[in-house]
Amino acid sequence: MGFIAENIKTLKDSLSQGVTLVAVSKTKPPEAIMEAYNCGHRIFGENKVQELVYKYETLPKDIEWHLIGHLQTNKVKLIAPFVHMIHSVESLKLLAVINAEAVKNNRIISCLLQVKIAREETKFGIPENELELLLSDESFQSMKNIKIAGLMGMATFTESQEQIRHEFRQLKTIFESIKEKYFRNNSYFSEISMGMSDDYRIAIEEGSTMVRVGTGIFGERDYSK
Ligand SMILES: *Cc1c(COP(=O)(O)O)cnc(C)c1O
Repeated sequence: MGFIAENIKTLKDSLSQGVTLVAVSKTKPPEAIMEAYNCGHRIFGENKVQELVYKYETLPKDIEWHLIGHLQTNKVKLIAPFVHMIHSVESLKLLAVINAEAVKNNRIISCLLQVKIAREETKFGIPENELELLLSDESFQSMKNIKIAGLMGMATFTESQEQIRHEFRQLKTIFESIKEKYFRNNSYFSEISMGMSDDYRIAIEEGSTMVRVGTGIFGERDYSK
């Protein structure tokens, strides 16, 4: 068995029930994905639209593709025919475009709202105080071809486990309050996508339902190629 299959098995055995593993395959070739696929894994995440489309076209059609990276409105149409979930929705404008493209494809597309929990400036995401503005907007109610499945967040890139834990805890708190206020009778709003290779254990302790693990499965990424 290759190291990718080993890593997948070990990870899956260690994850609590109810936690979904998104194998982040960005920069990795189709053969690497096939190694994970051949040991039964079907859920993969990519952060670039072109790469996602290429891999969708190349690989088996029963793969569930998740977009986890920044999405430009003009690229939504490229993934709308097949994408399973978009983790990185950051604006009402983007939601409206996803909805329109979903309509054209006669699909319902699952979306997570990416919330800014990291203290550093570089991270994407909707600031907490703008989240409610978005959710209470009237136009949002008329978007019938998207489903808000939950929230996504990325912790600050730091050595401080305390800070990471604090940020994940904050996302869980925001999730609970948003659920109570806007999705009370909606079982679909149920996912908290948080945790990567270095911090997924903390994320799960703080209530993650979806972890996005790349390096921990496929090894280090080589961006020089
Ligand atoms: C690359 C990436 C991951 C996975 O990161 P690893 O540290 O390799 O596990 C998770 N989430 C997002 C949004 C990413 O871009």
